Amino acid sequence: MSHLLHEPGAGLVGLSEEEYLPCTRCGLCSYTCPTYRVLLSQAQSPRGRVALIRALHRGEAAPGDGFASKILRCTLCAACTQVCPSGVVVDDLLVRAREEMARQDLLPPGLSRLSQNLALAHNISGEDNGLRLIWTENLPRPPQGTNRSRAEVVYFVGCVSSFFPQSFHIPQTTVQLLEAAGVEYALLGGDEWCCGYPLLANGSWHQAREAVLHNIDRVRAVGASGVVFTCPSCYHVWKQEYPRIAGADLEGVALWHVSEFLADLVAQGRLPLRELNEVVTYHDPCDLGRKSQVWEAPRQVLRSIPGLTLVEMRETRENALCCGGGGNLETYDPELVLAASRRRLAQAVETGAQTIVSACQQCERTLAQAVRRQKVRLRVLDLTELVWKAVEQKL
Ligand code: SF4
Ligand code: SF4
Repeated sequence: MSHLLHEPGAGLVGLSEEEYLPCTRCGLCSYTCPTYRVLLSQAQSPRGRVALIRALHRGEAAPGDGFASKILRCTLCAACTQVCPSGVVVDDLLVRAREEMARQDLLPPGLSRLSQNLALAHNISGEDNGLRLIWTENLPRPPQGTNRSRAEVVYFVGCVSSFFPQSFHIPQTTVQLLEAAGVEYALLGGDEWCCGYPLLANGSWHQAREAVLHNIDRVRAVGASGVVFTCPSCYHVWKQEYPRIAGADLEGVALWHVSEFLADLVAQGRLPLRELNEVVTYHDPCDLGRKSQVWEAPRQVLRSIPGLTLVEMRETRENALCCGGGGNLETYDPELVLAASRRRLAQAVETGAQTIVSACQQCERTLAQAVRRQKVRLRVLDLTELVWKAVEQKL
């Protein structure tokens, strides 16, 4: 199991040989790697990256520009870890390498700025954190979850959907779905801080711990018995890392990705769905699928929409090809993101679907950009948008 949490700020200092020595250089991981498939250079393959980390750990190489260009051209998708027959947790090693770069102050300016924004503003964009509910402004009416001091569930919106207008429709449709199903939920607004994922990935352990404890405290203050997430990265870090950082503090709090929450609501008959005659394909977000093992819930929701046909892509579920949008690659090499996303888009086109559905704001943004650049006739929707389409007409 890959994870982000190591000894505070350890970088490669706390690394042991056993973590990279099992690599037999078999190369099985290369074909799974979305960036290797574009760059076609062994130095830019997972095994090349493992070899680089080994050389660095043994003092046979120094971290410089060449190191950054290989370590950071990675989406942290964990496809390499998934296939490795020797059990090398490659994406974990790659996070350790990033931590080492942060420790030695070698991160490129875009990534260092991210940590500064988070320290000052508690969100990735560096804006006033009090503006977290700006997406609520053009809804027909203010969400019921605003200013609610007690609730059974907290909806944790995440930085991207809170601050990037291109993703505002995800929380907008989510709150409408929660309300249509009669869920008593609360929004934390300015009390929500970045989940800490980017801080853990950058090696800022103490800062991440502060965010973790703060967010749990705010959920407890509302008296919620569960938290629902639309962002797979927030969900992943709450599920995998929060219990390891906060220990018993999180006990008794259920965590759901919105796809799991919607699947339950539909099963309970709380979200009647009208017919949608569409052929769709589903893209598994890496943080939701491979890293959190949530594959079935989104498909269950899609299959429950009358008239809808779900067709699968060639590489799916645990073998899903990453869209290219993860690992902060966009900050480092946006053209590589585009090239990687084109490959995923081609697999979606092959299915003959009219719509590609994902359950992640970053996948949606990345795939939509590829659709625009490639001028392909395919719609990109978040799962919540599609479900809202099926619910709206029934209201
Ligand atoms: S699949 Fe595992 S053992 Fe094979 S090259 Fe990749 S990391 Fe090494
Ligand atoms: S985590 Fe993904 S992008 Fe990074 S080396 Fe592994 S397969 Fe490639």
